[in-house]
Amino acid sequence: MRLFGTNGVRGVVNEDLTAEIALRLGKAIGLFFKGSVAIASDARTSGDMIKSAAMSGLMSAGADVIDLGVTPTPSMQHYVGTHEVAGGVMITASHNPSQFNGIKCVDSTGRELTREDEEKIEKIYFNEKIKLSGWDSVGVIKQDASATESYVNAVIKQVDADAIRKANLTVILDCANGAAFLSAPLLMNKLGVRAITLNANPQGDFPGHPSEPTEENLKDIMSLVVSAKADLGIAHDGDADRTAFISEDGKFVSGDKSLSLISKHILSKKKGTVVTPVSSSSMVEEAVKASGGAIKYTAVGSPAVAKAMFESGAVFGGEENGGLIFPEHRLCRDGAMAAAKMLELIAKEGKLSEQIGKLPVYHVEKRKIDCPNNIKDDLLRSLKDSNKGAKADTTDGLKLLFSDGWVLVRPSGTEPKFRIYSESKDESVARQRADETESNAKKIAERLLK
Ligand code: MG
Repeated sequence: MRLFGTNGVRGVVNEDLTAEIALRLGKAIGLFFKGSVAIASDARTSGDMIKSAAMSGLMSAGADVIDLGVTPTPSMQHYVGTHEVAGGVMITASHNPSQFNGIKCVDSTGRELTREDEEKIEKIYFNEKIKLSGWDSVGVIKQDASATESYVNAVIKQVDADAIRKANLTVILDCANGAAFLSAPLLMNKLGVRAITLNANPQGDFPGHPSEPTEENLKDIMSLVVSAKADLGIAHDGDADRTAFISEDGKFVSGDKSLSLISKHILSKKKGTVVTPVSSSSMVEEAVKASGGAIKYTAVGSPAVAKAMFESGAVFGGEENGGLIFPEHRLCRDGAMAAAKMLELIAKEGKLSEQIGKLPVYHVEKRKIDCPNNIKDDLLRSLKDSNKGAKADTTDGLKLLFSDGWVLVRPSGTEPKFRIYSESKDESVARQRADETESNAKKIAERLLK
């Protein structure tokens, strides 16, 4: 049986994710790691409950627990990677609504666990007879409140802090009532940036806005950037591993644009490979190649990106949702690193809107079609057969490549649906190809269901 999804174990609290599950999972994680474990949470209302249960489980398996309090996921990962611990646990549901929470694990280097390791934990979890430690060797809790500040200090070391300080920047900082409430203002303070904060009180019912940093959730910061004449808007998700940006003219900057700009910025100093999922815009590839870099595509999801970055020794990588990975710091999505690099970029290269104006313009059409899970593989195969002439990439779903764009058909990992993305520099081509692919896929699904 499977317990871990693409981002750990996640669900609605007291329905899918209960204290009992957290306790049992804590035991399994403790037995898997066989050593002390650092644990942190985001600012969700259920954080204390789920974390306490997980900590009890860990200690019953003989693991000492180091409680880092509320801190971003990448801060916990940095702590684990720089301390003698066997692994780390994060209590978070990232950008999901406030009724959700989740549990995810990282290895002793701070990287997300591989699927193989998650399977080992699942096997222990589903074993009826979990073998606990003796009464005299149960674990204890130690508090360590140092994680946030040492994380921020480590991030600052990775950028030209003097250049940022000299630029005298003003930013609007939206912490989404989440885990960035201490780290993000501290980072701005230490970089000499004037920060006007929004939603910087940790409050698990997310009164400011839903915790996913999308354009529709960020209207307040968009207007505030303009009225305060700020140089940049920085918005994190609930656990602050992702960052969305607002340019000084109040426009939301898509993740593809952030990826492209930071790729160019990094490649101007160091040539190498940039890794991104097949769903990212060709804008990224165009920017990377124009800057003398190479592009490598992976399946969707940050573990796949981080793994490919590790294997290829990449200089940068990330996803179009604002999850950016800076290997010189750590192989994980890192909200503070993304913010610091963007500040460096603006300090050195000028206004963000002007940088964006130099990027090529692509149009994307997105569609969703219903498809029962049991015919997903057959549908993909039939769709591939019906496009025999086209160049195809099957890294994740089916991506058909044309001279004037591409279309990607991907099964959803969580719902009985397929997602269709069609991109071209020509808006009508993107739309037409999305229409064609949608109707073709629907016809195949109907035929398969007969
Ligand atoms: Mg997140």
